[in-house]
Order: sequence, then C-alpha cells, then structure tokens
Amino acid sequence: MAKTKKVYIAYTGGTIGMKPSDSGFVPQEGFLEQTLASFPEFNHEQMPQITIHDYAEPIDSANMSPEDWHLIAEDIEKNYHDYDGFVVLHGTDTMAYTASALSFMLEGLQKPVIITGSQIPLTQLRTDARDNIINAIYLAAHYPIPEVCLFFHDHLHRGNRCSKTDADGFAAFTSPNIPPIASIGSKIKVREHLIFKQHRTELNVQKFNSPKIAILTLFPGISADFVSDFLDQPSLDGVVLQSYGMGNAPVSNRPLIEAIKNACDKGMVIVNCTQCLQGSVNMNTYETGKVLVDAGVISGFDMTTEAALAKLYYLFSRGLDIQTIREKITTSLRGELS
Ligand code: ASP
Repeated sequence: MAKTKKVYIAYTGGTIGMKPSDSGFVPQEGFLEQTLASFPEFNHEQMPQITIHDYAEPIDSANMSPEDWHLIAEDIEKNYHDYDGFVVLHGTDTMAYTASALSFMLEGLQKPVIITGSQIPLTQLRTDARDNIINAIYLAAHYPIPEVCLFFHDHLHRGNRCSKTDADGFAAFTSPNIPPIASIGSKIKVREHLIFKQHRTELNVQKFNSPKIAILTLFPGISADFVSDFLDQPSLDGVVLQSYGMGNAPVSNRPLIEAIKNACDKGMVIVNCTQCLQGSVNMNTYETGKVLVDAGVISGFDMTTEAALAKLYYLFSRGLDIQTIREKITTSLRGELS
C-alpha cells in the first residue's frame, strides 16, 4: 500500500544518535541515519514516508544557542509545505529551551513539530530511543496537532510547558502545570480541549536577534551588591527572576529591592517565575511579593523559566516597545501560561 503521509526528521544531535568513543558518547554525522535505515519498523504500512536530515555538525544540546534554534526553524520553514509533520531529534539537556523557543519563532504553525530524544543512544540494548522516535513519527504523521510538542516516555507535552526534571530516568520531562496533550498506551488518548490553535495561519519564522536576556536566581544570602552589579550590565534588556514560592523576594533586604526597582525604572523587563516546579506566581499574597509589584516586576504566572526566557527573546526581537512587551508577557501567545 502506498504511504500517503510524509514526515521530515531533523537530527540536530544529542544522545539519541551518539556513538560510543574513547571519551564517552559523541554525536557523529550520518550515524543516526544509517542506524534508522536498518530498522524494520520504518517499512511498516502505518509508518509515513520519512526524510531524514542529518545536520552536518550534530551537537550535544549543551552547546545549543539561539543561532541553532534559527537553523532548525528555517529547516522546518523550507520543508513546511512538503510534509505533514516534523520530528526534531535533539539532546535532552536543553530540549525544553529549544521547544519553547521554536513555539514562539514558528508564528502561524499549523502542523505538528515534535521534539524528542532519548536517555540511552539508539544503538544500545536498553535504549528508550526506539519508542520515542516511533511514537513521535507516528503522531506527527497521523495526529495533526498544530503545536511545537515534546514527546518523551509515552507523553506528548506542549513544548513550552516542559522542563527536564530527571537527569537519568526515562520519564525525563514533565509539564507540571498542564496535563500532557496526548498519552500513549495500548490506545492513544488525545486531550483535544488542550490543543492550542494560533489565529495566524501562514507560517512565518520570527528570528531572534540578539537582545541581552539573563536569568537571576534568588537564594538565602544573595547580596544586594551582586544583584545591583548583575542588573547594571550595559544593555541588559530582560531578566527572568527565579523567586521563591508564589513569587517572593527578601523584603528585608531593601538595597536588593531598590536595585530591582532601579532596573525596572530604567526600562528593563523583569519577569517573575517561581523556583517551584508546580503552581503559579501570585505577587499579591505576601508583602514579600507585593514589594516586587511595586518595584515594577511583571508576573510570569505559571510559565516555566525556559518559556519565559524564550518569550523575552521573542518579544524583544519583534522590536516592540517596553510597555507592549510587559503586557504581552502576561498574555498567553502559544499556550505557555494558564
Ligand atoms: N548531553 C546530551 C544532550 O543534551 C544529553 C541527552 O541527549 O540526553 O545532547
């Protein structure tokens, strides 16, 4: 029977296609393609026609940068009209960042883009790669979910809701503030009501130019001088502030709060995300939160740090004025917040 569905697979690097070497597992060009070609599953009638694009220099995802996000987005754009869906094979370490970045970059996306990888390389006996790849390809071909998703260990998550929460377990990713969009068992359960649809229907890749974005994590004992120096860096545009609990900061450290206020007054966009894995920022609950509202900090609500970082890159790259950026931070653009 002729296969009617077509899926494009981009192998960017990561454990999934790595080869053992004297210095540990390393990515190698062409190796993943050769290995996949030997899999009988790909000839199954329910599998789509696939094209594999092995990137010339596959990388460990610890080396990913916004330039690499562009390469992936442009690759999808170039092939967009010829395929039903896209699978991006990627290292797990920064997969949630890439998933978040692509969700914003791919404006008007109407086809599935599923990022996956594995904890054990495809060639190893107990690999988790086989299940992840086969399910990701199958979903990309037969389930037209128009989002950037992340598939791992039986769950299809919204990409910009995920974090890597287990360094070596097979269930390495969770989306703590929203159930998976689909779950795989003997049946495939899709939670249709969760699917996010963009209003725009034509694909446009919004490249990220180079705004200066950073993450600042609060911890007991953090000094006001450190925060002040950090926020004083020339041309720093936006910061994700990882605060405590519901979005709290040490109100008793007045100079630290002043440093944050000065930065906001100068036009920096500071987004408050909680260090907790689950739940939402609500800065109106405690004095330690209210003080941040008064300083000009914007709530990130239940966004992951990865999503907030990518959203700052995206909004600054669109050349919007500061007031509009602050408003859009609190608005769901791709289902990244509840
Ligand atoms: N260090 C690897 C990477 O992120 C880990 C993995 O792929 O699981 O590329």
